[in-house]
Amino acid sequence: MKIEDVVCTFCGCLCDDLVVEVENNRVISVENGCTLANEKFMGDHRLKSPIRREGNGWKALSYDDAIRETAEILLDADRPLLYGWSGTHGEAQSVGVHLAELLGAVIDNTSTVCHGPSIMAIQEVGHPGCTLGQVKNRADVIVYWGANPIDAHPRHMSRYTTYADGFFVKEAFKERKVIVVDVRKTESSAVADEFVKVERGGDYAILSALRAIVRGKRDLIPKQVAGVTREQLFRVADICINAKFGAIFFGLGLTMSPGKYKNIRNAIELTEELNRHTKFTISPMRGHWNVYGSNEVFTWITGYPYAVDFARGIAFYNPGETTSVDILKRGECDACLVVASDPGAHFPRACAEHLARIPTVQIDPHVNATTHLATLQIPVAVTGIDAEGTAYRMDGVPIRTRKLFDGTYPSDFDILGKIYEQVKEVKGS
Ligand code: SF4
Repeated sequence: MKIEDVVCTFCGCLCDDLVVEVENNRVISVENGCTLANEKFMGDHRLKSPIRREGNGWKALSYDDAIRETAEILLDADRPLLYGWSGTHGEAQSVGVHLAELLGAVIDNTSTVCHGPSIMAIQEVGHPGCTLGQVKNRADVIVYWGANPIDAHPRHMSRYTTYADGFFVKEAFKERKVIVVDVRKTESSAVADEFVKVERGGDYAILSALRAIVRGKRDLIPKQVAGVTREQLFRVADICINAKFGAIFFGLGLTMSPGKYKNIRNAIELTEELNRHTKFTISPMRGHWNVYGSNEVFTWITGYPYAVDFARGIAFYNPGETTSVDILKRGECDACLVVASDPGAHFPRACAEHLARIPTVQIDPHVNATTHLATLQIPVAVTGIDAEGTAYRMDGVPIRTRKLFDGTYPSDFDILGKIYEQVKEVKGS
């Protein structure tokens, strides 16, 4: 059976034009997807049942036992941490937040190690963003800053920017100017009209120089700023000022480089300066397919986008204190529930070591680096393959992901709902 308009649940582009062929509850072909999508749909090797660590090995157990043990671990803990959430649908994320509130736990999502600083900057100075549809149809200048879309978001350029013809941009490849700013050459810089090679840690200085030029203070710019010549800075500023519609996309190369959230604040303020001349927007290149959704869901329910601590009985947010990496580094939490993410692969070593010391339950379809730290793992259906739910694209547009067949695995929503019910029974509220 061929299914059209399938949403790819891999990266923040959430491409919704895949054609997937399903036979005997298995995906056998994928059209329109990039290599990452093909791997997601076709190379799906899952755990068969929940597993519990016993000595140096693992023992299979039933879903009922795994759910009961998870509820007991969370109820026994004084300072539980519920981490992950960006690889599952909004409905499951919502149960997670209610579970955290019931437990008085900390709930955090993967923004904590990716675009958390971008969110902090947006909280300070706002977000002049737009949808990807607007970019495709209107933008004649694109800036990728500290991002390599060809590698991390392979269809971003073909669906929305460099190669995507739009309503007002009929021949995109000829009409659109693409600027890439990065500390090294990348596949994306190779197809750019202008590559600005910045010295490591020099982004803040470059942004400040561009702001000065846009404000008409060209005489203040020295011959070189962070490895970039004055002439190139003037050229880049002129391309931006003369754009009909410009769009900046920034990645972790800007968010996580020295200056962190101050870089993003400066980039947003550059965008504001450019809006004195023309229309310009700025957007983060969100990585996990529903990391944007985790920020949305957390914010609807608690008022805060990540790192929410319910220990006081109310939602409290203080990045640097209530963020997972800090809590784990301090050895503060005594149990962890990891949902739809892989902190074992992304967290600093000290955090991974602490996860291995405490009871850690992972809810995830696949074996990954976190499995090796976990006490218990519960496999679930994969959203977009045999489970469905709401996801938010990197531009904040909600998209309903589809279930391609009825599989045998429960969804994250089902498992979390049962854990919630058991915790609620004990907590009595
Ligand atoms: S660009 Fe991202 S969402 Fe689109 S097909 Fe590739 S992995 Fe999937």
